[in-house]
Amino acid sequence: MELQPESDSQAAITPTQFILHSIAAPWTVQRIYEYWRDSTNLESHFGLAYDGDLGQFIGTQTRADANMYANVRAISLESASNLDHTDPWTDAQIEQIIKLGVWLHQQHGIPLQICPSWDSPGYGFHRMFPQWSDGGTACPGDARVAQFKNVIFPEIVRRANGGAPSQKDVLDMTPDELKAIVKQAIEEERLTLVKDQIYWLGTLVNDEEVTDSDTAWQVNRNRGALKNFFGK
Ligand SMILES: [Zn+2]
Repeated sequence: MELQPESDSQAAITPTQFILHSIAAPWTVQRIYEYWRDSTNLESHFGLAYDGDLGQFIGTQTRADANMYANVRAISLESASNLDHTDPWTDAQIEQIIKLGVWLHQQHGIPLQICPSWDSPGYGFHRMFPQWSDGGTACPGDARVAQFKNVIFPEIVRRANGGAPSQKDVLDMTPDELKAIVKQAIEEERLTLVKDQIYWLGTLVNDEEVTDSDTAWQVNRNRGALKNFFGK
């Protein structure tokens, strides 16, 4: 399924990041495609249904628009979820994300690391950095963040390094085990988010030069808004 006009009209990219999303709807690949064709321009390269059905809508070397300031370098995947994107990925979804993650490493040389900063190469999920969304997002949800950190990313690394698929069934955990993992991931997330926000606010109120053109644009816009707000 090729999404037009985006597939032909959007700029070429050299992808260095892979960013995971939840679409807050329990949709099939066909329905995700129709949503982007008819309703919004914030498309992703890939769409993933609950049953593991994977669709591609845009070439991996063409820009997709789901990731704000990372669009110039990120390959993105949307995935079916419940309406609040609070549910975990299904086994079938996890298996596809892992396979795609390994393929992207082999095909595009995406390095086997979790993105250490918003513009560094690697793997990540939408809410990891404020620069990846317009004003922050909870996407893809706490349960999926926990799965990314504890199951998906480690398994991508293992397989990319020649390991056989892990025998452990990822959802073969008790609700209490899953809950404990989610809780820990939320804590870690919160600390990271607080750190990011402090840094981000710092760049707004000091006059530090920002060299990256995308960041400079947003910093200047926010500095303007702050000045208006304080009336000076
Ligand atoms: Zn998202």
